[in-house]
Amino acid sequence: MYALDINGLTKTYKGGTQALQGINLQVKQGDFFALLGPNGAGKSTTIGIISSLVNKTAGDVKIFEYSLASQMEDAKSCIGLVPQEFNFNQFETLWQIMLNQAGYYGVPRNVAKPRAEKYLKQLDLWEKRNSAARTLSGGMKRRLMIARALMHEPRMLILDEPTAGVDIEIRRSMWTFLKEINQQGITIILTTHYLEEAEMLCRNIAIIDKGQIVKNTSMKSLLATL
Ligand code: ADP
Ligand code: ADP
Repeated sequence: MYALDINGLTKTYKGGTQALQGINLQVKQGDFFALLGPNGAGKSTTIGIISSLVNKTAGDVKIFEYSLASQMEDAKSCIGLVPQEFNFNQFETLWQIMLNQAGYYGVPRNVAKPRAEKYLKQLDLWEKRNSAARTLSGGMKRRLMIARALMHEPRMLILDEPTAGVDIEIRRSMWTFLKEINQQGITIILTTHYLEEAEMLCRNIAIIDKGQIVKNTSMKSLLATL
């Protein structure tokens, strides 16, 4: 069983843009996987479909043992999503944001509190827990997005351009954190248009261009061909 098994996935937006042209993509459990491609290639569309935010036109998506079409709720609970844009309530405190997320996924409060504490500490946000999210720096907001996505302890974390606009020092600390949680067993998929980021982190990589997978290989063999 794969963590992610995509077959023949097609997306045509209203207006006629063919964002995905029948892609196949398999990600192994425990993998650290990069989806690399230029702007407009179809990365966000792929992630949007996997996380049930965008409707597919055709094709099958399976997330662990669950079919996205027929077992959407179970499939969704396997995924922690870190979208590009900050979509938390800027006027809530970090603590409220973390606990609300737990509530949304039905995590009991006695479980949620120590978990929120753990992730806020690991992502260096603990001192800020009682501050409104709007007072955070950009790098802190990115880390909050990751902390929040982990509140229901998903089996797979999906990050859309996780370090966009983050300075190099914070980027490195985020990379270290992601590597650690991957080693603890969580499957990670990220999109990026920096090969360097994929190179630092990922074991396997797919390159997408104009809605098609043009390469799907291990990071090692990709680097050997460059
Ligand atoms: P990437 O994330 O790789 O930059 P996207 O998945 O965002 O690529 O976009 C793939 C293609 O689909 C692009 O041509 C883009 O303009 C188009 N597209 C993305 N979102 C929409 C939308 N909501 N409506 C119409 N076209 C869209
Ligand atoms: P309730 O569960 O009744 O809503 P609270 O959320 O007010 O209670 O807080 C109960 C406990 O949760 C506190 O004693 C504390 O351990 C923890 N807690 C609440 N808010 C925070 C916070 N901002 N930072 C750290 N721990 C908190």
